[in-house]
Amino acid sequence: MDFQLSEEQKELQESVRRYATERLLPIAEEIERTGEPPSRELVHEFAEMGYLGINVPEALGGQGLGNLEALLVLEELGKVSSAVAFPVFESCVGPVRAIEKFADPSLVASVVPAVCAGDKMIAIAMSEPQAGTALTDLTTKARIEGDEVIINGTKRWCSGGGHADAYLVYCRFSDEPGAKSIGAVYVEKDTQGLSFGRPEHLMGFRGVPSSDIFFDNVRVPAKNVVVSAGGFKKLMAAFDLERCGNATMAMAQAAAALADVAEYVQERRQFGKAIVEFQGVQLKLAEMQMQVEASRLLIWRAAVDAEHGFPSISASSIAKCFANEMARTVTGNALQLMGGYGYSKEYPMERRFRDAWGWGIAGGAIDIQKVNIAGAMIGRRFNQRA
Ligand SMILES: Cc1cc2nc3c(=O)[nH]c(=O)nc-3n(C[C@H](O)[C@H](O)[C@H](O)COP(=O)(O)OP(=O)(O)OC[C@H]3O[C@@H](n4cnc5c(N)ncnc54)[C@H](O)[C@@H]3O)c2cc1C
Repeated sequence: MDFQLSEEQKELQESVRRYATERLLPIAEEIERTGEPPSRELVHEFAEMGYLGINVPEALGGQGLGNLEALLVLEELGKVSSAVAFPVFESCVGPVRAIEKFADPSLVASVVPAVCAGDKMIAIAMSEPQAGTALTDLTTKARIEGDEVIINGTKRWCSGGGHADAYLVYCRFSDEPGAKSIGAVYVEKDTQGLSFGRPEHLMGFRGVPSSDIFFDNVRVPAKNVVVSAGGFKKLMAAFDLERCGNATMAMAQAAAALADVAEYVQERRQFGKAIVEFQGVQLKLAEMQMQVEASRLLIWRAAVDAEHGFPSISASSIAKCFANEMARTVTGNALQLMGGYGYSKEYPMERRFRDAWGWGIAGGAIDIQKVNIAGAMIGRRFNQRA
């Protein structure tokens, strides 16, 4: 067991950190002000830097590095802001990885290199008005007719909804209830019959557009079926990697909050001395540091265990759950230590708190992760319906 990053990994981490702090901080502020997602130019710049699909094989336009490298990049960008890092999140741990692993080779060839080049952004559409935690209640229907698939239904809370170029849409391929008839289809934005709801106004995640998606007899070629009925486990395996990305984004909010507040408490003076001199403040700092470090190690363990494949449900759920709860606590404590300045929109602290909260809902709410963890621990699945 080695807890050190390799020299190459440290260099990568250092170079992303430099790029992120020198180039992206004002962009993050602008995104927060306008609510507009990162520009296509910036996404292309990420591609030039090699960040998009860094863990995708070189033959498909990626850098051929591992999941850990992808998460190192994501952490440094996520520290700047969730919205700035989001295109990298989608390309390295999001739906494109399920496409790369499971789709028809012709679809893989047309989609994955385009994502790595920054020419295509792909979002995931799983949740529905009546299917959130109970995802296997989803009702969006995919009917195969000849060499086409016809999709009808409504998706909700899609990050990238209305903005992404294409969607990996979880669908039910027959009337059979439960997971067995669920698969996923790749659908491009301009396909006839596809439309979007109004942009959602969320508590955080500004610059990550979100909307409902409506499918009204949307027809796509049958080869766009990425995972057919019976492949729900495959989709969830790919989602285990997304969980590590979610955990990293949450942890990044906390790590950045901690770095900022560590400076602040040394500058801010009350009662004639810097507030870091108060033992109550020191204890808070130590607790935050311990939590961030523990979270990072849990995430890295999950990623390294499955370096080029997908992590286990147990390791990824533990990493996500811990990071989600930790990030809410740490960003909250950091905000508190900055007093009125922490609560002001002049500083990124309150944004981090709002974003941190969102990561604990996105990608599966905290409590259902705990049910997964207990299931893996006891060696059985706890049926939520029985
Ligand atoms: C910022 C953000 C981004 C998102 N991005 C996407 C996206 O890109 N694509 C997408 O498809 N979806 C996305 N979602 C949707 C997300 O996956 C769902 O919100 C999430 O799965 C919870 O579903 P729900 O909102 O319907 O809550 P519900 O399922 O109604 O659950 C509400 C609460 O009830 C509790 N609960 C429910 N069932 C159980 C149980 N069995 N055991 C214990 N507690 C339970 C939990 O505390 C849970 O938080 C996003 C959500 C957010 C907030």
